[in-house]
Amino acid sequence: MFLLMKETFWKNWAETVYFQPHKVVYPTSIAEVCQIVKQAKKENQQIRVIGAGHSFTPIAASPGYLISLDNLTGIISIDEEQQTAVVLAGTRLYDLSKQLAEQGFSQENLGDINTQSLAGATLTGTHGTGIQFGNLATQVVELKMVNADGDVITVNAQSEVPLQAAAISLGLLGIVVEMAIRIIPAPTYRFESRKIHFLHLLQDMKQLIAENRHFECFMFPYSEIVQIKTMNLSEQVPLSVRKHRLKALVVENYAYQLLSETARFIPRTTRWISRLSAKAIGSSVIHAKNYDLFATARNVRFREMEYSIPLEKLSEALIAIRTKMEREGYHVHFPIEIRMAKGDDLWLSTAYARDSAYIAIHMYKGMPYEKYFQDMDALLQAYEARPHWGKMHNMNLTQLHRVYPKLEAFLNIREQLDPSGIFLNAYFAKLLETNNKENRTKLQKSIFAEV
Ligand SMILES: Cc1cc2nc3c(=O)[nH]c(=O)nc-3n(C[C@H](O)[C@H](O)[C@H](O)COP(=O)(O)OP(=O)(O)OC[C@H]3O[C@@H](n4cnc5c(N)ncnc54)[C@H](O)[C@@H]3O)c2cc1C
Repeated sequence: MFLLMKETFWKNWAETVYFQPHKVVYPTSIAEVCQIVKQAKKENQQIRVIGAGHSFTPIAASPGYLISLDNLTGIISIDEEQQTAVVLAGTRLYDLSKQLAEQGFSQENLGDINTQSLAGATLTGTHGTGIQFGNLATQVVELKMVNADGDVITVNAQSEVPLQAAAISLGLLGIVVEMAIRIIPAPTYRFESRKIHFLHLLQDMKQLIAENRHFECFMFPYSEIVQIKTMNLSEQVPLSVRKHRLKALVVENYAYQLLSETARFIPRTTRWISRLSAKAIGSSVIHAKNYDLFATARNVRFREMEYSIPLEKLSEALIAIRTKMEREGYHVHFPIEIRMAKGDDLWLSTAYARDSAYIAIHMYKGMPYEKYFQDMDALLQAYEARPHWGKMHNMNLTQLHRVYPKLEAFLNIREQLDPSGIFLNAYFAKLLETNNKENRTKLQKSIFAEV
């Protein structure tokens, strides 16, 4: 029988969201998930699932039932010929990487941490970097979901519910309990980190993106120095990354925490701290297995916004950001992270129908972020920016409709599958105006009229 706890306080990783669900449940089987949905329906309670709580907004917050799939984890099967794995949705990405590696496989791409649950990361469109690769949801070939009636449905390329709607569905269509994902034979990579001048980045950007399997960079505020990281296939014998990890833990976490606290207490030191951090970047090359390289420890807490823009607009947007930062002099020392993904056909994907560049804006926890975030949000909207669903943003439904052309189609499916809104919470009801179809239709018409 599932474990049930009452009235526990919950907070997310960034400590920006606190809530108290009516009940917290830990099902141990798919049948129990069905039972919980039926029970919640009887009690007229709403349900949200919590993954690892690594989203920056209240998307997982529930006033009713909060379901954790921490007891529904692990790989069910691997099809070596088809190169797919069936995985229980609560599996954490670090466990998935380890278990796949034991069988000689891996995911083709991952983000920069691996603490998320597979479902939480996938359903919000979590991405890594590399222009040949889509976000994590593009790896999904089939999923099993418990719907609002408490029944299990299968979603794949042939199903009535389109996979393109369900793969990034934010927990709004049902509770995803199982996923079949594409996997690849685990490669060894050559990872390299080095610094270059911002002007060289602009000059070589196209080449760096096209010629590296995985490429990302970090632009330090008020500095000309940019850190670039690349990962490419390697034939060399993989080495242990223990030393590399220890250094990253000390430099990027303990030392950075100290500097960040200094910035918080004495905000005028932020420029100096940013420049010092940029200068401190050394060059390193490592050959290792992929699960050792994608993820880094992130112990320094921050707030984050991240937007995707069309890839071809990246250089122009970066110049505009730097100009704005110089003019406004924000107190910020966290670097801006820049990544890429291939265009896809998933309706709520930040890379829907376009190759995309991602620009992530961070602020250390406890430092004022509002003006910086508002200005960057406004600036990036001029570049057809689409917000990451798990991160902070200031966009309203009209703005979301403009950049997500399939949003209305998604909302219609949501309404069909969950007419009583059992999977909604206050955050989504407000953001997506789910109680106001009339207004949504008007909005949609006026947006089409503009085009
Ligand atoms: C330090 C840090 C680093 C990050 N790095 C990256 C990165 O590199 N790339 C990137 O794109 N994003 C990144 N993110 C964002 C993060 O990947 C997403 O917010 C992701 O959703 C978090 O996964 P989670 O398991 O914590 O899900 P949660 O935040 O707990 O939940 C996310 C959403 O999914 C729903 N959900 C979870 N499980 C299920 C389920 N089984 N069925 C239905 N709905 C479900 C929840 O209700 C919620 O709406 C980062 C976040 C942090 C804090």
